[in-house]
Amino acid sequence: MKKGTRKQANLAETAPAGVLLFGAGLDMPETLPSARIAGVKGAGLLNLAAAGAPMPPGFILPTDQCPDARAGANGLTAELRNALKRGLEEIGQAARAGFGDKDKPLLVSLRSSPPASMPKSQRTVVNLGLTEALLPAYIARQGGGEAATWLGWDCYRRLLLSYAMHVLRLDPEPFDQIRTDALDAAKAEGEHELSAAALESLTRLLAAELEKAGALPRDPAEWLERAVAAGFAAWNLSEADEHRRHAMLEDLPGTALIVQAMVQGAASDGAHGGAGHLHSRLPATGDKQLHGSYLAQAQGVDLTAGVRMPDALDLLAKRLPEVHRQVIEWAGKLERLLRNAIELDFTIERGTLYLLGAMPASRTHRASLKIALDLVDEGICTQQEALLTVDPRVIDEYLHPVLDRTAAKEPLTKGLGASPGSAVGQAVFFAEHAVELAAQGIKTILIRHETSPEDIDGLKVAEGILTAHGGLTSHAAVVGRGMGKCVVVGANALQINYLINEMTVGEQTVKRLDWISLDGTTGEIFHGKLPQIQPQLEGGIARVLEWADAARVIGVQANADTPEDARRAVELGAEGIGLCRTEHMFFEMDRIPLFRKMILAGDEIGRAAALSELLPLQRRDFLEMFRVMQGRPVTIRLLDPPLNEFLPKGIRSQTRTAKAMRIPIEVIQQRTEALSESNPMMGHRGCRLAITYPEIYNMQVRAIVEAACIVKKEGTQVHPEIMVPLISTERELIVLRKSIEELMQRVMAELGETISIQIGTMVETPRAAICSRSIARHADFYSFGTNDLTQMGYGFSRDDVGVFLPTYLEREILEGDPFMALDQEGIGGLIKLAVEQGRRSNPNLKIGICGEHGGDPESVVFFHRVGLDYVSCSPFRIPVARLAAGQAALLWHRGELLGTDLPSSRPPQGAGHA
Ligand code: PEP
Ligand code: MG
Repeated sequence: MKKGTRKQANLAETAPAGVLLFGAGLDMPETLPSARIAGVKGAGLLNLAAAGAPMPPGFILPTDQCPDARAGANGLTAELRNALKRGLEEIGQAARAGFGDKDKPLLVSLRSSPPASMPKSQRTVVNLGLTEALLPAYIARQGGGEAATWLGWDCYRRLLLSYAMHVLRLDPEPFDQIRTDALDAAKAEGEHELSAAALESLTRLLAAELEKAGALPRDPAEWLERAVAAGFAAWNLSEADEHRRHAMLEDLPGTALIVQAMVQGAASDGAHGGAGHLHSRLPATGDKQLHGSYLAQAQGVDLTAGVRMPDALDLLAKRLPEVHRQVIEWAGKLERLLRNAIELDFTIERGTLYLLGAMPASRTHRASLKIALDLVDEGICTQQEALLTVDPRVIDEYLHPVLDRTAAKEPLTKGLGASPGSAVGQAVFFAEHAVELAAQGIKTILIRHETSPEDIDGLKVAEGILTAHGGLTSHAAVVGRGMGKCVVVGANALQINYLINEMTVGEQTVKRLDWISLDGTTGEIFHGKLPQIQPQLEGGIARVLEWADAARVIGVQANADTPEDARRAVELGAEGIGLCRTEHMFFEMDRIPLFRKMILAGDEIGRAAALSELLPLQRRDFLEMFRVMQGRPVTIRLLDPPLNEFLPKGIRSQTRTAKAMRIPIEVIQQRTEALSESNPMMGHRGCRLAITYPEIYNMQVRAIVEAACIVKKEGTQVHPEIMVPLISTERELIVLRKSIEELMQRVMAELGETISIQIGTMVETPRAAICSRSIARHADFYSFGTNDLTQMGYGFSRDDVGVFLPTYLEREILEGDPFMALDQEGIGGLIKLAVEQGRRSNPNLKIGICGEHGGDPESVVFFHRVGLDYVSCSPFRIPVARLAAGQAALLWHRGELLGTDLPSSRPPQGAGHA
């Protein structure tokens, strides 16, 4: 084997036994292995080394060693022990030292390198190779004297602590206490202020504490083997397993481990050693400007330990100008190598620079956009690569005003941020007050326990909406999001008193017309008028969205109930309407009396009479929608909510309605009573309404078909789709489909037109998902109603989840709100099953999703993976969904959407574009 050249590696994706060497003078693999073999960090180091970066020599134990490691003594197989030995010999030669050598002891670090982010199974042990017996030799090699003695004991101290935490997993508290006592006794801020003798005695105390957990090995090889065993075993801890299951990373092979020679930035000659960290661009803004910190006589961990304040990089420029120049040069080279803005860790040992790792830099959402555009313009990466670095959440900041945080005070309280952006207005507690004040040009925040469809006019005019109850798919959240308004829900601490028009939070009182500021992203509520930063629609966003559209496979449609929403949705890039909730049409001022008349009618004839008055209004709604959408798909969902949602609540509103309808209030009250249900969300709603009151859907179907025929006659293309909500059995769909089809034929015959109208169903009950194979036979398309599917899958009422969810999140019983980001394991499992089974019995089934998750970036990636054709979300979330869908397609293409058994379910390229 020729040194200094790259070996022809047997690095098939199955990975070789043995080790992957890296560093100057070592036999590097010819083909650089992927993160699946070397782990993310390991693959990064190999990449760096291949580019000739100055690095301490090292080797990687690849991921395929991980499960084997459990089999042998000490957790290590004989093969692995040999590999370790061989690797140590190689890096020992490069570093001119020997592991366990009595004169020139080699010190190494051991780090986990999993193939995907695994926060709970990271292990790092430093200075392996040092024992108390070898300390004198190490000190002598460092030049002897006080400074070298200090360094030797400091290295040993760091070894003991990292071994205690990462190999033995001991409680840190006693070690912290020993340290605190020693520093107090010496009146020192940190170890760097201790004399060598004081550091030695502190280290001996730490060693004694460690010995309580069992004798420390004498042989350095045994330390290392135990560390390797612990590193591999961490992969199999139950919490790591749990994390992989949640993140759908179960098919990963295991973790790799990195063994690398130590370099000592804390070496004694102060000015010539140290550690630093550098960003190639400003992480806050993305501006092309180096940004970093440097700490003399320190190791990398000291930069963030909080004991000594690091200096700006300028100090390095003054002290070691040549090293500074090299660092900057490497920052530029590594940007080109990684094709991204980077952050870089480095250590300087006796005036020599060593790069310890470089990775894509962390950045704010805003910076992610600027960096992506700049990198493409500078020719550093392709549009596709740049697209993957943009955080989809940046779009919210460009579409909505945000609160000026520099002026923020303590929030009054916090709820769930349900719709991004911010709102500043004067408090009102009734929808009609919001309407009255809006007429005078006054901006309001509508505050309610929860909202109901009756509040629609207030919701429309209020700047923002705040509710004490409800979750992310409550009425206020869904409607407000659809309107692009800032909404905060589930603020449980609010005590609202409607009688005196005020609310209290603890000791504080907010009266009617007091100023309130809401942050719809964080859910914070401020008493007072905070300044807002108005959005500036960046040209850059449009460019990035073009890149995303070119890449994406799945379609993006909108949830839109009115022609204005539809128009806005198209402007924002919607390719169709995936959900038109027709009930919202009935809450308009000119409809609600007629709809109530229908509900209050005692018999079918009375209902039919009221519905015939509604028909022209409903037809007009669809006419407008079809005209705006110009042949794009318009998926119209037939009536879904329980009827009693349409009746007035509370004596005040009932009295007003009775007067307007010229009927006794008792009629309204009796009907409300008769329609009231214990669990309305699981009651008489959706397709169940149509089974019992077929005339409602009949009127809607007639209105859809008539409108479609009229628009077609006008010469505009139409593409209506009729969607039945809340199906849970095959028979429900058979019965309703038959009656819808018959009526469609009749109306078309009456009007002398033929239009192809698909009939599909929402899949929003767990039973429908499980029985998808039979239901799909009667559906042209599916749309997953993930709001209800989450509600019914968990058994969490979407309107009441705000009461217990904060505690669930605080106690980490749930990782996040499942109404916001899809629960991929549970609800996602139902979706996956339904897709597979549905396509099995109906290969032409078109499948989408129209719950709120359709606009959540992480969930969009999941929907791509399970092979949906399109997502549908509120108009203001369309750009986010487009971006996320583009990213999902690119990741999929690059094989970086790690997953289990999903690839087969992806539709052919382009299938999603409707
Ligand atoms: C759903 O349940 O996900 C859905 C889109 O319907 P709605 O929110 O109107 O119940
Ligand atoms: Mg639903």
